[in-house]
Amino acid sequence: MAGISSICSNPDDRAALTTRSVYIHVPFCRHKCGYCDFTLVAGRDDLFDRYLAALSQEFQVHGFDPSRPTEVDTLFLGGGTPTHPTVSQLRALLELVRDYFPLRSGAEFSVEANPLDLTDEKIELLSEFGVNRLSLGVQALRDDLLTLLERDHRAVQIGPLLERLRPVFASVSIDLMFGIPGQTLGDWEQSLRDVVAYDLPHVSTYGLTWEPNTAFSTRLKRGELNRADEGLEGEMYLAAMEYLGAAGYRHYEISNFARPGFECRHHLVYWNGGDYEAFGPSAARHRAGRRETNVRSVLGWLSAVESGRSVVGDAEDLDPETRARELIMLQLRLDHGVIRDAFSQQTGFAFNDLAAGQLAELLASGLLEDTGEAVRLTRQGKLLGDRVAAEFL
Ligand code: SF4
Repeated sequence: MAGISSICSNPDDRAALTTRSVYIHVPFCRHKCGYCDFTLVAGRDDLFDRYLAALSQEFQVHGFDPSRPTEVDTLFLGGGTPTHPTVSQLRALLELVRDYFPLRSGAEFSVEANPLDLTDEKIELLSEFGVNRLSLGVQALRDDLLTLLERDHRAVQIGPLLERLRPVFASVSIDLMFGIPGQTLGDWEQSLRDVVAYDLPHVSTYGLTWEPNTAFSTRLKRGELNRADEGLEGEMYLAAMEYLGAAGYRHYEISNFARPGFECRHHLVYWNGGDYEAFGPSAARHRAGRRETNVRSVLGWLSAVESGRSVVGDAEDLDPETRARELIMLQLRLDHGVIRDAFSQQTGFAFNDLAAGQLAELLASGLLEDTGEAVRLTRQGKLLGDRVAAEFL
């Protein structure tokens, strides 16, 4: 693809366009947390064997074949909770995935994990199959907030867990949430100090989103929960930038901070407009301008695979201009923003031609900055990052 050698400012970003990447959605959880809108089933572990068989069928429908395995550079098991299945189920899943998608030398293998699932046996198993990056759903470091979020771990368990994980996995990331009802700026700053003290290679911070059809949204309507005001959420996000930045983390993407060299390579493929395969309910893949998203319902996905119907719920062939506009939206999420030369080499469009309508206004309002070489979000722009990026679609 044109422009590979000059697309990005960092070596890890540049590699994103030649990376072979696979995402697998593992839709099992012990319990459905009140705020969660992901695709999953809770309390339906009986479906696991059907899921595994369907996953294998889906691999084959897309032309993958274990007799000619496809080596990958990044592999990501997300969910749901990929660490929820039993040890023997998890082993069966890892074996299946390895048979189709063995890791190329130097590959990144990420797994999303729930802290309390990580028994010594599961840690050993993940390591045996080459998992080298764990993304821990910690969310909060105060017990009353964890209870509110319906998470099953306690804050005091995180430090000792990290000590067990550190010697095994090359990278451990922690997810933290702000804007939780009842969370003060002081609480959040304390969480950031705690995270800095853990000295992890990667931290993701997200504002709580109130998705329709979640228990949290119902409780909000009933007046049982209060939404943090936008001003407070903004202060929390700025505090994350300040604390993590001062501790040496690169704020490489709107929601993600990493020590140099520990950026998530799999996600960099998404944000740099690369291709990726994806399997399982709700999984979305992108191949050469065609985007497909699988049906969202777990049972719907299972029955479609089992009856030989397509599991694709939505498909779109993106025309070159739409693809280029989407790339602007994605790359504005990254700290280097849209690099003009690389953008035109990758898409065939000049950034200024596509952005003429929005650019002047966003620059004047201080949400974007133009270095000549690149256009990127300012600190203020990051607060409204999704909205700014959407202006270019
Ligand atoms: S553990 Fe994660 S995926 Fe599962 S219900 Fe809770 S938030 Fe959602």
